[in-house]
Amino acid sequence: MSAQLHELGRNEDQTIIIGAGLAGLSCAFELVDQGKSVLILEAAPYVGGRTGNWNERGMEVESGFHKFIGYYKELPKLLERAGIDLDEMLVWETTMQVRHPDAEEYGEFGLDIIHAPLKTLSGMLGNNDFITPGDKASLVPFLAAGFKDCVSRPEELDEISLLDFAKQHGVNEQALQRIVEPLSSGIFFMPLEQYSAYAFFGLFLPGIPRIHKMRIGAFTGGMTDVMCSPLAAAIEQKGGRIRTNSPVTRLLYGTDGTDGLEGVELEDGELIPATRVVVAANIRRSQQLLEEHFSEHEWFQPFLSLDAMPHVTVQFESELPLLPEDRTTFGPGTDIGSFGEQSRTTFRGRPGRASIILVNPDELIDLSDEEIWNRTQKGLIDIGLAEGVSSVTDYRIVRGNENFYRIAPGNERKRPEQVTPIRGLYLAGDYTKQPMFTTMEGAVLSGQKAAAGILDEST
Ligand SMILES: Cc1cc2nc3c(=O)[nH]c(=O)nc-3n(C[C@H](O)[C@H](O)[C@H](O)COP(=O)(O)OP(=O)(O)OC[C@H]3O[C@@H](n4cnc5c(N)ncnc54)[C@H](O)[C@@H]3O)c2cc1C
Repeated sequence: MSAQLHELGRNEDQTIIIGAGLAGLSCAFELVDQGKSVLILEAAPYVGGRTGNWNERGMEVESGFHKFIGYYKELPKLLERAGIDLDEMLVWETTMQVRHPDAEEYGEFGLDIIHAPLKTLSGMLGNNDFITPGDKASLVPFLAAGFKDCVSRPEELDEISLLDFAKQHGVNEQALQRIVEPLSSGIFFMPLEQYSAYAFFGLFLPGIPRIHKMRIGAFTGGMTDVMCSPLAAAIEQKGGRIRTNSPVTRLLYGTDGTDGLEGVELEDGELIPATRVVVAANIRRSQQLLEEHFSEHEWFQPFLSLDAMPHVTVQFESELPLLPEDRTTFGPGTDIGSFGEQSRTTFRGRPGRASIILVNPDELIDLSDEEIWNRTQKGLIDIGLAEGVSSVTDYRIVRGNENFYRIAPGNERKRPEQVTPIRGLYLAGDYTKQPMFTTMEGAVLSGQKAAAGILDEST
């Protein structure tokens, strides 16, 4: 095999990146920007990974309901450097809603202190029929202690569940259900008892000094179309190469008697040589690729034991829009996590088009599409959206069980760094160590960290 690789040009200084999600794309962009030779190999027929859209049996779908958070820093900078106009790619929302089955009123909260200051302040001070002043007061010690612990003792905070932490700090039941649940399970699907308190506070902490940037962006089209394909085109323009439909099945390591990465093998048996390989696949696929060679290696042990969590999303078309505006909405107290109408933003051209992330995916992942759909309808009816549900014409369930690292207590320390002790081997992906958890911003940061490691090594 070694001889074959040499014949194929092993001496060329090429970096292979496995995976064209945002982590792989951001890593590639930084490398080609510095004149490096890069080849991205992507298993799917399209770029974008979890920030992708595709046609699923006749319906345009996405991996799930995605929002661009205004306090992200590296993702917007990367896109601007790639020539992508954020104002064309996004529509900014100024409020979000929370609907609870037991509440008489829904809560409406302003998000944007700069562009919608009155809505933002009245959301905080008002909504008293949805969440009482007593509920709000019960959150104060919890938030103060959580943000403080997040800075001063993050490892310990990661040992405790969000539910236990909230109870320890006196959050009352209604505040827990109507505020904490949407901001945790509504975003990362997991029930509060399985959710790391560190993951909750850590996600919002970088937003505090950037509160003036806080707002939520809805995509103006499918994410492959408006974000990832243009980013891929910018990489190609700078000399990078991207091959889709190219699943990597093996890392080639140690075949010439040395202890470095030599290249990869594709599913069809093709061998491609490389000086270094960045594994930027989702967590389970990355673990599978690494296990063959490194299952006994001490450095990889914590990462190989890092558990993944599934996700289940529902997307549907209807004759009537589900909601009067395309804005982020939460459905605590039901199976509905976060959701939104998208017929005026991401998937236009239909009278109604909604996207929903369901909570507690461990319970749902093995159910049939029909069972999941029935639970979704019930959740929507419980929060007062029966009319929209009655006009649904078609739906798709989009699910996965290998993409996210589980944001459970004790898992933070298992996340690997991007630079590994193996010569020529780098990792990127939202599961790797970076402060923005399992988000688009986190994926971009991870790709940048991998690229920085490569550029450091070659200077
Ligand atoms: C339902 C849902 C909702 C979300 N909502 C938000 C949100 O609102 N805001 C936010 O910031 N983030 C959100 N995220 C998270 C965000 O999408 C991810 O954090 C980010 O896209 C991860 O990027 P990545 O590059 O690390 O991984 P991925 O996007 O998973 O990319 C990995 C790529 O590797 C490829 N691959 C895997 N194995 C191989 C192989 N053997 N060979 C070649 N290629 C391979 C895959 O096909 C994939 O393209 C959401 C995700 C989901 C699923």
